[in-house]
Amino acid sequence: MTPYRGRFAPSPTGPLHLGSLVAAMASYLDAKVHGGQWLVRIEDLDRDRNVPGADEHILASLRRCGMAWDGEVTWQTRREPLYETALAQLAQHVYPCGCSRREIADSQTSLRAHLQGRPGLPHTATPVYPGTCRAGLAPGKAPRALRLRTPQHPARVIGFDDRWHGHVEQDITAEVGDFVIRRADGFWAYQLAVVVDDAAQGITDIVRGADLLDSTPRQLYLQELLGVPHPRYLHVPVVANADGEKLSKQTGAAAFDNGAPPAQLLAQSLIPAARFLGLHVAAETIDGFWSAAVPAWERLLREHGRV
Ligand code: GLU
Repeated sequence: MTPYRGRFAPSPTGPLHLGSLVAAMASYLDAKVHGGQWLVRIEDLDRDRNVPGADEHILASLRRCGMAWDGEVTWQTRREPLYETALAQLAQHVYPCGCSRREIADSQTSLRAHLQGRPGLPHTATPVYPGTCRAGLAPGKAPRALRLRTPQHPARVIGFDDRWHGHVEQDITAEVGDFVIRRADGFWAYQLAVVVDDAAQGITDIVRGADLLDSTPRQLYLQELLGVPHPRYLHVPVVANADGEKLSKQTGAAAFDNGAPPAQLLAQSLIPAARFLGLHVAAETIDGFWSAAVPAWERLLREHGRV
């Protein structure tokens, strides 16, 4: 069996907070329980959303938490030739699209009606692309984004066994449509970059927040087209604020305080993140925390059949 290799892949859009710490912790614990490696990759391709210094702040927080990564940290903006190569491999499935967000949003009303009542994943905020430029750029349009064709006849349903959620299926043709792999602003899309990097870094196991559950079928499809192995997936629940929104800097998450003493770090960050994952860990020191949290995660996996 391939040795376990996991990762934490934060976007440097702000400091670590309880929500991102939960994803970091779950991926770290899972790597430790499996005697595997744990890598850190900074997903900084969306230059408009990057906050200067947030990458180093996140890394310092992980160090403060006693979460040591294996190997060198990678930054996606330093790996762009890899995405270029992948794009060349996908050439026959890719086409330029000249549609604006507005045009795509306007086409949604009829599609939504058509999809009503279908079983599957909840719909994302991203509208289903109606295929306007699939057979060639519509007249008068200039190329903006690059899209990957999804199979049309028959439509393609992609299923996988998530270690937390069980079997998950999504009809990528009807529920996603042809999706963007290079954005109109010229940035590489998350879906392409994440697949290329996970494959290039030999990631066997992806543990991350359930907000990405509905991206996974697209990623499995890209892995198939690129001829790279499918990792195993475990999507942990996402921390929400009092209004039920995913916790983020924008929805009021408290930033991780890199200067906090260990007792405060345990009480305000590590222990609450563990509790959110269903781990009841009591500890006086950071080392003591991890000595208790690793076996607790193993027990939780066993109890739920998620090993
Ligand atoms: N960079 C993504 C985020 O911070 C996570 C990507 C992933 O784990 O696949 O939400």
